[in-house]
Amino acid sequence: METKGPGYIFAASCLHQDTFMKKQTQEHAAHEAKPYAEPKDSRIATAPLKPYQTLLFYKYVHLPEAETFAAQLLKFCKETGLTGRVLVAEEGINGTVSGTVEQCNQFIHHLHSDERFSDMEFKIDEENTTSFAKMHVRYKKEIVHFGQPDVNVWEKTGTYLEPEEWLRMMNDKDVVVLDVRNKVEWELGKFKNAVTVDIEHFRDLPQVMPQLEQYKNKKVLAYCTGGIRCEKATAYLIQQGFQNVFHLHGGIIKYGKVTGGKDFDGQCYVFDNRIGIDVNYVNPTVISQCKICNTKTTKMVNCANPECNEHFVLCEECGWKMKGCCSEACLVSPRLRVYDGSGYYQKGTQQWIND
Ligand SMILES: [Zn+2]
Ligand SMILES: [Zn+2]
Repeated sequence: METKGPGYIFAASCLHQDTFMKKQTQEHAAHEAKPYAEPKDSRIATAPLKPYQTLLFYKYVHLPEAETFAAQLLKFCKETGLTGRVLVAEEGINGTVSGTVEQCNQFIHHLHSDERFSDMEFKIDEENTTSFAKMHVRYKKEIVHFGQPDVNVWEKTGTYLEPEEWLRMMNDKDVVVLDVRNKVEWELGKFKNAVTVDIEHFRDLPQVMPQLEQYKNKKVLAYCTGGIRCEKATAYLIQQGFQNVFHLHGGIIKYGKVTGGKDFDGQCYVFDNRIGIDVNYVNPTVISQCKICNTKTTKMVNCANPECNEHFVLCEECGWKMKGCCSEACLVSPRLRVYDGSGYYQKGTQQWIND
């Protein structure tokens, strides 16, 4: 697998959706919305501005001794004083670690000095504190659950398209832009004219293959949030006989930072407290609609009825009117959570963190 790119340390955040939630402050969200400054080190995107950092990374690489590797990495992280969550599988690594700038540098150098990870990209977020209480490195069957053991991502995957190439190609004739994310994600935002699939979990993608058959001989440009799902999805498409498969390297997030996000309609759904982030600074739009009144809004909440907890689009006005509920039925539920305007509830929030 080749790693190209404009020289950012960069990795996806969509990977963490089934593993944890990351606490984000408003200030952090504002910082995140801005494109990165010019990198100094060709692989590092930000200069240390705050005392702590969070590193996001993934790489599909064949790790036959994954279990041993996980144990060794955990030992290293603990000795270094890092916190975070990392998944290790025979197919690669996927994780987030947090610590001081120095600790994070040690982690980066530790992995970069291993030949298998020498080209691994890191996305660095500046933090005022560490993001986790503990350090976990877990051995798993897959770094992103897909449930198709024949799909070997490190052997065959779609051709990478860097954001600029994607921007040039996505409006070509004979191109099908394919969103491999879940419904809740593309409802908030997606590439203009993208084909979407009605799935709740990434592992359900094989079930919607019949409706994608028609694109078998077209140029398929697949994308997801940060790239990790796409690599697996394109490997699967190729295995299913698709001839011409590409995917957006670094996903929507990197596309937004590099190109300004042209032709991405709406917001990019992220699996942390921010829920939706702006990526399009060129021709931004809002496409998501309030479930109650159909007003266009980017506000997403969890239903205040804990038994329902549906994650859905709800405008400010209906939010108060409905006390944060998705329906009249939920509104009369015996134990509603108190709606404070955010639609975010500490407990139970994890219920929609799925993939
Ligand atoms: Zn409304
Ligand atoms: Zn509800």
